[in-house]
Parts: sequence; structure tokens; C-alpha cells
Amino acid sequence: MTGSLTELRTALTGDVLAPSDREYEQARLCFNLLIDRRPAAIARCVDADDVASALAFAQEHDLEIAVRGGGHNPAGHCAVDDGLVIDLSRMRDVEVDPEARVATSEGGATWMDLDAATQAHGLVTPGGVVGSTGVTGLTLGGGIGHLTAQHGLTCDNLVAAELVTPAGKLVHASDDENPDLLWGIRGGGGNFGVATRLKYRLHPLDRVIGGLLEYAGDGVPGALRAFRDVDAKASNNLSCQAQLRFDQGRTPALTVAPCYTGSDEEPDELRALRSAPGLVSDGVRSQSFLDQQRVFDPGYGVDRHYWKGHFVGELPDELLDTLLDRVANLDRPPGAILIESLRGAPKEVDPTSAAVGYRGAAFNVSVMATWIDPALDDEQIAWARETAAAIEPWSVSGGYANYMQADEPLDRIRAAFGPDSFDRLRVLKTRYDPGNVLHRNQNIPPAASGATAAATRLGRKA
Ligand SMILES: Cc1cc2nc3c(=O)[nH]c(=O)nc-3n(C[C@H](O)[C@H](O)[C@H](O)COP(=O)(O)OP(=O)(O)OC[C@H]3O[C@@H](n4cnc5c(N)ncnc54)[C@H](O)[C@@H]3O)c2cc1C
Repeated sequence: MTGSLTELRTALTGDVLAPSDREYEQARLCFNLLIDRRPAAIARCVDADDVASALAFAQEHDLEIAVRGGGHNPAGHCAVDDGLVIDLSRMRDVEVDPEARVATSEGGATWMDLDAATQAHGLVTPGGVVGSTGVTGLTLGGGIGHLTAQHGLTCDNLVAAELVTPAGKLVHASDDENPDLLWGIRGGGGNFGVATRLKYRLHPLDRVIGGLLEYAGDGVPGALRAFRDVDAKASNNLSCQAQLRFDQGRTPALTVAPCYTGSDEEPDELRALRSAPGLVSDGVRSQSFLDQQRVFDPGYGVDRHYWKGHFVGELPDELLDTLLDRVANLDRPPGAILIESLRGAPKEVDPTSAAVGYRGAAFNVSVMATWIDPALDDEQIAWARETAAAIEPWSVSGGYANYMQADEPLDRIRAAFGPDSFDRLRVLKTRYDPGNVLHRNQNIPPAASGATAAATRLGRKA
């Protein structure tokens, strides 16, 4: 392998890390410490030519490929034992055209890279809520965050992309060029090529009223209902998320994260949330959007994670009580249940414009087991699975691909798109990646003729 790596190093403008290199241990790390893999090499590409060379090298040497953007995917798809990681962390430039109101980000940019660049012009595109998450990985799965109600899913704001296919071909996707590919990458994941540049529509935004409202103790069930009721009636000026958990004192706790972008100084929706029972801390204020993007911000590579959830059509009292029972059942911080609203702009977009199949759902309810001690792995994973099973009766569109672990069956991935879109994605996969070279993702197996190669590749998947 050492001799072959010299060949790869010569082919790339970027650099290649091998296990003996000082930076390798850090570079192989995922956000999720539950994933501990040792690639044969990490190709840190700097442009599309590097990506094409790395793809060719891996296939010539029969190395399994993992593509790494921000390294956040809980399934750890960005890491692979004994294979080649195509790492885009050196491709993080973001160009903003304030006149045209578009931003073009390289394939490895993070949300803080993109937000900092666009906010310098008082502009924004809706993204994720944690700055270190990869822009590309999040977009490819849909994208839910602080501006979802206002401007839709992140992928709804993706207007064009440049990808390198496993065959090394540079392809473009837009309304005018390969529109079916643009449809597919709006939710269909990293199945069709390595994205090197993505162009987003931007919207004017200066300050927001946002931050965190914390509720504790006996008031939590009422506050959870208030969150649901406020969200149901809110205008598109308010995006809202909630996190339910047990705090260090083993009492129920709820965090609500509103992000209001309208013109009222004290909007009715926020007044209603503030008057809900159990409020113990009010951190909501007028602040810059960049500050809003820092209200969560967990440390990278600190915790072990196992996530599983469902899109639901409603949040009836019975489901809320089930969620409260389930956090009490864990009885151990800091695992949480995240509830993300899909109200507003996602519903106003032409549903045929994107592969995502969940925009009709009311909420994304995700069980997020988060822990540090490896001795708790079995307990935490069991809690997440059992809690997700308890939510399943209300499930409407499968689970959120961006939060899926690697153990999800194909049926759950199909359900996330619906059977028709899933079949169309398989046809697209066959066109761009017939051998399923890019299979370390929420995988869309190639249709018919690619099935044998797909089965072979899937059989190797950890
Ligand atoms: C702390 C945290 C916060 C999060 N917050 C949100 C949130 O607010 N909203 C939300 O919707 N999701 C959120 N997510 C989920 C996140 O969107 C997905 O996990 C996403 O896959 C992460 O992308 P990444 O590039 O960081 O991850 P990686 O692990 O680097 O990549 C994940 C996969 O995406 C694909 N991929 C990445 N880059 C490329 C590329 N350039 N070309 C082709 N394929 C690529 C590959 O298949 C890769 O395996 C969060 C995750 C974490 C851990």
C-alpha cells in the first residue's frame, strides 16, 4: 500500500494521510465517537480533479470509498476501515454574489463557513443549527433548521451543483442541465457523485429574535403542549424546535428554540411560549443570525450517539405523553428527543421539485441517545430503538435520512422517499453510479442491471 500511496500523493494537488502520519488520528475521527474506523488512507482533496483522481485510485486498488464533508453523519458514513476517505475538509471556500443573491460553496464547507460569508452581506440560506455540520451532507438529505418555516428545506434553496461521478466525469445539475439530477440530490444523498460545488438561493436577513427557552419540572408536559399549539398557529416568520430530556437532577426538562424573523418586537407566539408553565430560563432576545446559529454547538468527537426517529403527521397528547414516559424511562442525561417543525415554507414548495418525501409531515421526532461511557452502549442503543418503536404508530414518512444510523433497513430508506420517488432515484443511481461505488450513505441501490454489483458492494458494508 505504501508504494501505491506514493502514486496517489503524486496524482493529487492536495495531501494524503496514512496511519503513520501525525494528523491521521484526528482526521479519521467522526462527530460520533461510537464510530471508530481506520481507513487505509485519507485523500484531502483541494479541487474536482483531485476528487476524480481519488475516485479512480480507489477503484483501481479495490478500496472501499467513504466521502467526508463535515463528518457529522451519525451513521459514520464518512469513515471506512481499510478503505479510502475522500475528505473535502480543505474545500471550504464560499463565494457570495450579493446582486444575484446566490452563494456557491465548495463541497467541504461547514454551516459556519457559509453563514459567515452570506451574513457579511446581510443574506442567508436556511441550513442546520450547528456550525460545524457539513453544508453538503446536510443539503443532500434535505436540511431542517432555524429558518425552515421562513425559507423551506435547505435542499429547496439549492439551485445548482457540480459533481464528480465515480467514472471521473464532471457533471452539472440545475433546472437547465440534468434537472433530474438536481431533483435527486435534493434529498437523495451522496449517491450520485462527489459534490464539489453547490449554489444556493439567498434571502435578506439581519437580526432575529431567538435563543433558548428552558422549562423544568412539573410544568414540562404543559410547556410541551404549548410548543405544539403555538407552532400550529404560527406564521412563516417563526421556526421552532423543541428538545425533551431529563436534566442532571433527574427531572424532566424541555428546551424550546424559537427563531422569529418578523417585524414585531414582541410577537404573540413568543409571548405564548414565555407564559407556558415551568419556564426557568429565558434566553430569547434580538440577536444576529450568527449568534442564533451558536445556540446549540456541541463539541466535535466528544460523545457517542445513536439516533432513530420518525416523521409524524401530528403531535396528539397521547404521543406527547409517550415521549415524556420515554425520557423518564431513560432516567439518565443527556439523551434527548428532538422535535423539529416542518410547518410553513416546506409545504409551499412544488413537491415534485425534490426527491425528499417527508415535506407533508408536521414534525420530525428524533430520539437522540448521547453518552460518553462505552459501557452504556447497549443500554443507550436499546433506549433509542424502543423509544422510536413507541413513536412508530404515528409515523407518516419513514425516518430522516440525515439522522439515520447505518443499521436502517432498505424499507426505511424507501419509506423516506415513497415508492415512486425511490424507484426514480434507483434509475438515477444506475445512470450515475451503476456499480454502487458510492454506497457508504443512506444507500439507493442501482435499479435492475446494477443489482449484482450493488449486492456485492452492500455485502461489504459494515
Ligand atoms: C451535531 C449535529 C447537528 C446536526 N444538525 C442538523 C440540523 O440542524 N439539521 C439537519 O437537517 N441535519 C442536522 N444534522 C444531520 C446532518 O445534516 C447529517 O448528518 C449530514 O449527513 C451531515 O453532513 P456532513 O457533511 O457533516 O457529514 P459527513 O459525515 O461528512 O457526510 C455524510 C454523508 O454525506 C455525503 N456527503 C457529504 N459531503 C459530500 C459531498 N461533498 N459529495 C457527496 N456526498 C457528500 C456522503 O454520503 C457522506 O457519507 C446534524 C448532525 C449533527 C451530528
